[in-house]
Amino acid sequence: MASKQLRTYTREEVAKHNKEDDLWIIIDAKVYDLTRFVGMHPGGIAALTDEDIAGQDATDQFFALHRFEVLLKPQYQRLVIGNIEGEEAALHPPSIGDISKVPYAEPTWLTEGYHSPYYTENHRELQRAVRKFTDEYLIPDAQAREEDGKRPDQKVFDKMAELELHAMRLGPGKHLQGRTLMGGIVKPEEFDYFHELVAMQEMVRCGARGYGDGLLGGKVIGLPPVLNFGSEELKARVVPDVLAAKKFICLAISEAHAGSDVMGLQTTAVKSEDGQEWIINGSKKWITNGTFADYFTVGCKTEDGFTVILVERGPGVETRQIKTSYSTTAGTAFITFDNVRAPVGNTLGEEGGGIFVMLSNFNHERWVMCCASARAQRGIVEECLKWTSQRKAFGKPLNSLATVRAKLAAMIQRAESVQNWLENITYQMCNMSYKQQASKLAGQIALLKSYSTSCAQETARDAVQLFGGRGITKTGMGRLIEHYHRTIPFDALLGGAEDVLSDLGVRQALRSMPHDARL
Ligand SMILES: Cc1cc2nc3c(=O)[nH]c(=O)nc-3n(C[C@H](O)[C@H](O)[C@H](O)COP(=O)(O)OP(=O)(O)OC[C@H]3O[C@@H](n4cnc5c(N)ncnc54)[C@H](O)[C@@H]3O)c2cc1C
Repeated sequence: MASKQLRTYTREEVAKHNKEDDLWIIIDAKVYDLTRFVGMHPGGIAALTDEDIAGQDATDQFFALHRFEVLLKPQYQRLVIGNIEGEEAALHPPSIGDISKVPYAEPTWLTEGYHSPYYTENHRELQRAVRKFTDEYLIPDAQAREEDGKRPDQKVFDKMAELELHAMRLGPGKHLQGRTLMGGIVKPEEFDYFHELVAMQEMVRCGARGYGDGLLGGKVIGLPPVLNFGSEELKARVVPDVLAAKKFICLAISEAHAGSDVMGLQTTAVKSEDGQEWIINGSKKWITNGTFADYFTVGCKTEDGFTVILVERGPGVETRQIKTSYSTTAGTAFITFDNVRAPVGNTLGEEGGGIFVMLSNFNHERWVMCCASARAQRGIVEECLKWTSQRKAFGKPLNSLATVRAKLAAMIQRAESVQNWLENITYQMCNMSYKQQASKLAGQIALLKSYSTSCAQETARDAVQLFGGRGITKTGMGRLIEHYHRTIPFDALLGGAEDVLSDLGVRQALRSMPHDARL
């Protein structure tokens, strides 16, 4: 199809088209003919026929009320008839892969002119590739799935598998051997926790909390026990299909009676008469990806304590969706096990040693959540900086008010402190064995997670305040703020509730108090 011929106009020519039946406006040096659209304008006809709008430059008024993405929609692009003579567009929407120029919208290491001791050129290369992938594949699917509540598109899972993003999200380790990571950008033996942090923080930019968990959050927490404690036979059978996103896995520990108090779980596993199988009975609650999982990493009460068993979907396993305040794309499930049989070979770790398996999983899970939380709050800082510059009240931008700037300051301080502490802990992880991490970092990670999620909740509250009514409106200017504010409590609960983790962090510190320390 031939593209439309655009003409140039003078501002005087545009000004003549200022009636409801002949209405043009200028936005950012482009001329829009709104004559056929005026009756369909969601904001009403009067907003467009106003004498400050009809035939005039309405750039400021447009951006005070609309996001850039509105202008980019094909139905509105079709209304463009030309450009203003001698003028160029001054505003540019972000393109795929762009780094934001808004202050604090990117971590320091990605901001021009700043430095970091932690990131190499290889981390930067990975960042560029994952950003492009996120912009191209994740963001459009995230927005669509948040709307229809279905799990992420299999094409997205397949693309992630091709790039080995499923494997990279499990951190450094043997599972990366022989894989081509992100088209060969990172060598498996060189992949470290900063690579994982980069991949995680880039993907979080899709700005959809439920979708983020739908993107195989269950695998991130459910597969490590198989990798670390499964038999070679079990790993060979399960891991390749899960990392290829042909099969799905989840971690099923929590129950209606046992959330923070893991020791209270009541699902039982007893051996069959011939000793070859476990027979499992009980239920699990709020299990991420459970609705579509093929495998369940299940915490069970057994004769001599707790045991973790890999259960495969089959007779006696039932999953049903739990509707929470984030979208059903996460596949949050209530699961019942009714005389479900699993081979004894599916035991993960020692029989009776399940608590060790479950606890050893927590550090990485919580650290991943810190990566996500730090990046998500930074996204809110960017939204607020843009909004308070665009939005005028009493004739001035919101950011001309000292109270507004004070809120922005607090948001920036929180986002920066969380990221900086996270990077420090990540550096420790890169230089410690798994065992050292378990003894030296469990407390630090717990404290960081509870700090990060409490910062995030304060930022969510401040952001709603800055956006006013739009901060609680699902569509339009404040849509990301509404989403963030609605879903932020999840981070403060999952992987250990905020209060529980603060307490854990201090208890760990107290264990290391020197006996001879006195004031
Ligand atoms: C959407 C969603 C997804 C989830 N995904 C999974 C999953 O994939 N797999 C899985 O196994 N579980 C999952 N969970 C469960 C999650 O781990 C639990 O919700 C969490 O452990 C808290 O347990 P609870 O909700 O039963 O709260 P409770 O344990 O009843 O605690 C309620 C509150 O009491 C306080 N509290 C409790 N104990 C203490 C303490 N010792 N010190 C101080 N304060 C305390 C805290 O404020 C806490 O928030 C998910 C939950 C949700 C909501």
